[in-house]
Amino acid sequence: MSRPIAMSASRASAAPYSRSRRQVLQWFAAGCGCAVCGAASARLLDFDLSAVEIAPKTWAVLGRTEYFNMDNGGNIVNVAFIEVPDGVVVIDTGPSKRYGDALRALIEKKVPGKPILRVYNTHHHPDHFLGNQAFDTAVIAAPQKVIDNIALEGNGFADNMYRLLGDWMRGTQAVAPGIALQADKESVGGRDFSLWYLAGHTNSDFVIRDDQTGVLFAGDLAFLYRAPTTPHADIMTWRESLQTLSAIDKSLLMPGHGPSDSKDESLVQTADYIDWLHGSISDSVTKGLTMNEAMGVPIPTRFEGLGVVRTEYERSVVHLYPTLEDALFPVIEVTQ
Ligand SMILES: [Zn+2]
Repeated sequence: MSRPIAMSASRASAAPYSRSRRQVLQWFAAGCGCAVCGAASARLLDFDLSAVEIAPKTWAVLGRTEYFNMDNGGNIVNVAFIEVPDGVVVIDTGPSKRYGDALRALIEKKVPGKPILRVYNTHHHPDHFLGNQAFDTAVIAAPQKVIDNIALEGNGFADNMYRLLGDWMRGTQAVAPGIALQADKESVGGRDFSLWYLAGHTNSDFVIRDDQTGVLFAGDLAFLYRAPTTPHADIMTWRESLQTLSAIDKSLLMPGHGPSDSKDESLVQTADYIDWLHGSISDSVTKGLTMNEAMGVPIPTRFEGLGVVRTEYERSVVHLYPTLEDALFPVIEVTQ
């Protein structure tokens, strides 16, 4: 299926983002997120993970569309695992050692007795790889740039997560993948996977497709019903990557955050949001607003259904404002 991402403001405004019944049910399967359950989880430090079968022998473990807090323990991310003929393939490992251990236990429950043959890390953000400790480094694979990013920033991320999540993070250390990938395809345990080396959300965003089921694991290039995060974003490159993802044949897309997506909604929604973000912050820079003033601009109503949109918008102003200011108001050398 090949569909260009055409984003006209009128189309987007006319169709505010709202979830289908199936997507809502997926979220309940991922944990209801109510205050009572959240408090119980925090007391027990138990993620109580559950898996949703999104394709034959393919399970997603869906995180909440929130920011890290003591109630969710950092469980705000999607990870997945696939039973292949000779074992199991895992996509991303979650935010902590505790989460990685819980994920391993869940995999063993769903696919008892089968070895974990491959773990892919989609990118170096802490919610996606800090569970690596629970897996054998020799089977964890990612592009070299992701490995380099983890080596450079991983422990700093872990320290920051300790500050946000306390005991949920106990014992967690950054572990870099043991395998650097560069091939476009690899066969794991009797199953073929296609691999794409993209960028934009970070400087290295790795995308994996199970060629048998057609499920595409897009990492954080795609968000659905959750505002995209931008601490390492290059908006123009991200836009190009969304076009690439749109052109890939797939049966289903698993975004890094939000429910699974059979209609490329996550690509349209993410493109729409980052286009608006870029335009809004550029506009604030051009008008000479301070960063605080830029944080207060109205957010279009069509984005109201995106989780934590105001918070993420404010964070994005901090991330993107200096770069856009440099681009829009370049320093001019004055000679006398
Ligand atoms: Zn990310």
